[in-house]
Amino acid sequence: MSLVVQTSFIGDMVLTTPLIAELARRGPVDVLATPITAPLLANNPSVRRVIMYDKRGADRGPVGLWRAARSTRELFEEGKKSPVRYDAAYMAQGSVRSAIAARLVGAKEYVGFSTSPGRALYTKVMFYREERHHAERLWALSTWNAPATDPPRGIRPALYPGETEREAVDALLARNAGRLSGQQPTASGQQRLVVVAPGSTWATKRWPYFADLARLLSSTYRVALIGGEAEQDAARTIRGEAAVADFIDATGQLSLLGSAELIRRAAVLVTNDSAPLHLASAMNTPTVAVFGPTVPGFGFGPLASPSVVAGNDALACRPCHRHGPRRCPLGHWRCMRDLSATHVAELVERIA
Ligand code: SF4
Repeated sequence: MSLVVQTSFIGDMVLTTPLIAELARRGPVDVLATPITAPLLANNPSVRRVIMYDKRGADRGPVGLWRAARSTRELFEEGKKSPVRYDAAYMAQGSVRSAIAARLVGAKEYVGFSTSPGRALYTKVMFYREERHHAERLWALSTWNAPATDPPRGIRPALYPGETEREAVDALLARNAGRLSGQQPTASGQQRLVVVAPGSTWATKRWPYFADLARLLSSTYRVALIGGEAEQDAARTIRGEAAVADFIDATGQLSLLGSAELIRRAAVLVTNDSAPLHLASAMNTPTVAVFGPTVPGFGFGPLASPSVVAGNDALACRPCHRHGPRRCPLGHWRCMRDLSATHVAELVERIA
């Protein structure tokens, strides 16, 4: 019986699903997650139970940590019907706080990466393979007690939108039923959809030409824009600048799994180096990923097939930051400014 600790960002949880699926082949898997990322595991057949750890809210601080750990242990004992420990806790998120949480819950082994701040609390430390995709690195935690094994070829995360998400997307598309003229239908007669995701937590990772791209694509595709409430202002700006009649603004209207469902129905997703990229990997939707100050070599590139990356490989300053700096330290931000909408639209055509 396994405990997977993943209290990091949305993309990290998505990329943890291959590890969860592997562990589920051996026995029940519980996942310690935050309220933001826990919904991503809904309907996942590999997950026995999602345990909430609201580290920035109700479970904040040492008392909250203790409370979350204690309730996790009670749940474990209830599922196990006897007060023993998990066989192993897999530290997919490497903070000291997460390691303490796992220790408080109780496991026979604590497995995590050699680069993690919480590594002193692990019993099995796995080498962090810089050259691998992060989904592969996380999956490799499952091999701590086995001979060295390569990850499965073509490893991809998995999400499971359900009826609720399908109905939400149906309703969204019905509300935004557009003109058919000037758009290419698919073999089934439906309009082809391109979903664009302009958001990112890190300002320098937000490609600035999504409005131009929407305008270029609108003669051929239906364009839908996704994101959370934080992206709604940007969506209004893009919509205004693009001046496209059939533009679907879905920001703030869909859950994470709802966004995954919309992406599933798209011919292509165009995204920054951010969470929607990983949703598309899970739904195997062809992806154009725009990378500015970061590079896919960090381990967070698209896994959908086909996928293509737009990036200014000629810039000597790139990459300049693991997550993307708040501002371009050189002031010109050419890693993004040099990537034209025409170029990205061509990449969409190449894989659509
Ligand atoms: S230093 Fe280079 S890679 Fe970094 S933000 Fe500026 S242009 Fe982009």
